[in-house]
Formats: sequence, C-alpha cells, structure tokens
Amino acid sequence: MMKMQGRTMLQNTTSRHEIQSSVSIVECYVCGKGLSEGHSISAKTLSNGIVLFCDVHYKMQ
Ligand SMILES: [Zn+2]
Repeated sequence: MMKMQGRTMLQNTTSRHEIQSSVSIVECYVCGKGLSEGHSISAKTLSNGIVLFCDVHYKMQ
C-alpha cells in the first residue's frame, strides 16, 4: 500500500530521487570496489553517462 502511494508520488520527484540514490552508491564501475574499502573513486563522463572508477581503473580508461 505504501509502495503504490510512493510510486505515484515519485513521478513528480523522480529525478531528485535518482540523484540521491546514485550518489549513495560510490563504487568502481569495473571491479565494484568502493570508498568503504579505502579506494579513491573518481567520476568520468562517457558517451553513455557518468561512470565511477577506482584509482586503478580510472588510469586504464
Ligand atoms: Zn576498479
């Protein structure tokens, strides 16, 4: 019941919700390592959008 209500209301705030959820997940696009494991994560803008890489894979791109 709450899910259905939230879904309807999300249509107005979808973009804001997506930004918040994507920011909270900070991990490498290639290997999945994240800040919590002591890796530095950098964002890179590719043709298909913004992708996050760890310090190792960022140099390889
Ligand atoms: Zn990586």
